[in-house]
Amino acid sequence: MTTTKAAQIRKPGGDWELVERDLPQPGPGQVRLKVEACGICHSDVLIKDGLWPGIQYPRVPGHEVAGRIDAVGSGVSNWKVGQRVGVGWHGGHCFQCEPCRRGDFAMCVNRKITGIDFDGGYAEHMIAPASALAAIPDGLAATDAGPFMCAGVTVFNALRNSGAIAGDVVAVHGIGGLGHLGVQYARQMGFQTIAIGRGKDKDPLARKLGAHQYIDSAATDAAAELQKLGGARVILATAPNAKAISALVDGLSINGKLLVPAAPMEPLTVSVLPLIMGRRSVAGWYSGTARDSQDTLEFSVFSGVRSMTEVFPLARVTEAYERMISGKARFRVVLTMP
Ligand SMILES: [Zn+2]
Ligand SMILES: [Zn+2]
Repeated sequence: MTTTKAAQIRKPGGDWELVERDLPQPGPGQVRLKVEACGICHSDVLIKDGLWPGIQYPRVPGHEVAGRIDAVGSGVSNWKVGQRVGVGWHGGHCFQCEPCRRGDFAMCVNRKITGIDFDGGYAEHMIAPASALAAIPDGLAATDAGPFMCAGVTVFNALRNSGAIAGDVVAVHGIGGLGHLGVQYARQMGFQTIAIGRGKDKDPLARKLGAHQYIDSAATDAAAELQKLGGARVILATAPNAKAISALVDGLSINGKLLVPAAPMEPLTVSVLPLIMGRRSVAGWYSGTARDSQDTLEFSVFSGVRSMTEVFPLARVTEAYERMISGKARFRVVLTMP
């Protein structure tokens, strides 16, 4: 085999193009994957529409990759051909900058983003730095592993580093691609899990995912409902709606933290006095490293957390992407490679 298929974007705003490319060879410190599945993340709009500064086109997006190593570059000793691995948003780090010297690889000033700084997983094959690899546990299907590599690790890592401890009230705002995983993780981590969504229709699903209680923010004041429980120690705001997120601050407990892992287009509007008087905070959360992704995969396997996915073959990438953008997918869209 000397060529491989990929779905690329040739220019900002361009259409999906299925192309035949030369089979790439891994350089030093890299491996080549035979991709088996790749999730479509909402952030792939950054490549499709040219919203991320400095992207070189054509570009193959995809940072929820699951596959198998089929070639190993020089200097890579801890990964083997045939091993099942995932690649996520974190596409490697430099090991040399100040954050790296302190072991904070996710904050590397030279960090690479899979599918933005180099071609990602909307392809039969891709090249990845060894520092971006997570081992996929046995028994976890590639279509299940893919969405954990961005959506999964983002909410899992946000929650486990949030400061909440077992028994605390943790609310997950938004029952979508991120939120339906957030509810499952919050429950499995031992939190009193509150799901917040708009409308009654998501109540049964939220409870099935593990929520102890569902708050319909269209019918009630979500912050007031949270205060009836003593306030939330953590609110994970997964629906990128600035107005809705801002209103949630009033639902925090003393020392409560509003965590925002997905960026709304508009700025938040937050009164600072309640933050001061209750030592509350609003904070962003940034994904995680490859080892965080591997922790996510492992935790998901032994706790039974799974993404709800709609699966499309690579050849139907246009349809699959439109499905994701429509917001109607339940809940992650995943491409599979032939
Ligand atoms: Zn993503
Ligand atoms: Zn670095």
